[in-house]
Amino acid sequence: MNCELEQHLIDSLFQGVGHCVTVCNATIGLMLAIRLVIDRKSGAGRARKYALMPAFTFAATAHAAIWNNLIPLFCDIEPDTWQASPSSLRDLIVQFSDEIAVIVPYATFGQSLDLSAYQALSSDYELPVVVDAAASLGCVDACGRQFGSGSPDPVIYSMHVTKTFSTSEAGMVYCNDEQTVEQLRAMGNFGFGIPRCATLPGLNAKLSEIGALLALEKLKAFGGVIKHRQQLEDVYRQHLPELTFQATAGGRNAYQFMPALVPANSDRQRDYVIAKLAEAGVMAGKYFSPHLAEQPYFRERCKLVDLSVTEEVGSRIISLPMYDSMTLADVQAISEAARAALTS
Ligand SMILES: *Cc1c(COP(=O)(O)O)cnc(C)c1O
Repeated sequence: MNCELEQHLIDSLFQGVGHCVTVCNATIGLMLAIRLVIDRKSGAGRARKYALMPAFTFAATAHAAIWNNLIPLFCDIEPDTWQASPSSLRDLIVQFSDEIAVIVPYATFGQSLDLSAYQALSSDYELPVVVDAAASLGCVDACGRQFGSGSPDPVIYSMHVTKTFSTSEAGMVYCNDEQTVEQLRAMGNFGFGIPRCATLPGLNAKLSEIGALLALEKLKAFGGVIKHRQQLEDVYRQHLPELTFQATAGGRNAYQFMPALVPANSDRQRDYVIAKLAEAGVMAGKYFSPHLAEQPYFRERCKLVDLSVTEEVGSRIISLPMYDSMTLADVQAISEAARAALTS
């Protein structure tokens, strides 16, 4: 089932380009990929201590670095795309250049990210890149390809039940480089580079055959899921001009939920809006608030820098519902409830 799933993922989502290995979840995939790229460095390169990543991401990104004995070095984000800010990244790379072990960009909420910019940083500063694309299955880039397609760096996707490609617990690591994928496969199978003999750092990252079967079934219906979610997104954007939605970088998203910012400087604060929506029977979230530098475990271990845009976006972010059985009328009703909360 896993072999079949990997083949189908490459053929139907990545148009036959590249290689992938399934994993039991994306967090383990991130841990393995970060380990692989830092182990490839020789000599002093191995002693580097920081994993450069945005503070506006899920806890798993930072945990994966810390499990590899790295310290998260958080960069700020852009106010419109909520992606890592290129100037914040460059500043930190210049400041900490020979102490950074890996850059871990996150494709925020699945929105397309310019991976060529990271490839340029990677070659300019000889820094490996591992892409957290946990929410990106179903998102197409500016060229109309599945986001991550053709990437020379490992790209990690989640198939957790909360993602657009929802199964139960599952994930995959994609890379255009076959050797990278085969090494990750061996690492995820107890480090067995030769049969039953550990040649690499290892753990058990395998996806169960039942998990692979669920994902194969999901794949059959996935085109419809993407189209449907894009329609829901359009209705949200039309019906809630009061909110600020994520700016797109070309391409098309298929959101796992509908993120937006409540107005700045309004007395209708984010938590008030969430409470009002709950009264109306609508469960809204606030990913990623608290952001990583606000969470005690990371705050005590990270390198703290200026995160003013992250603070601002984190204080105004709201995640509105999105799910496969949702109708356009559901979106309209939720939008009404949100507008009432914002203005009443
Ligand atoms: C969901 C998510 C993960 C973790 O994925 P799992 O498959 O649940 O381990 C990692 N990073 C980000 C940004 C996520 O949204």
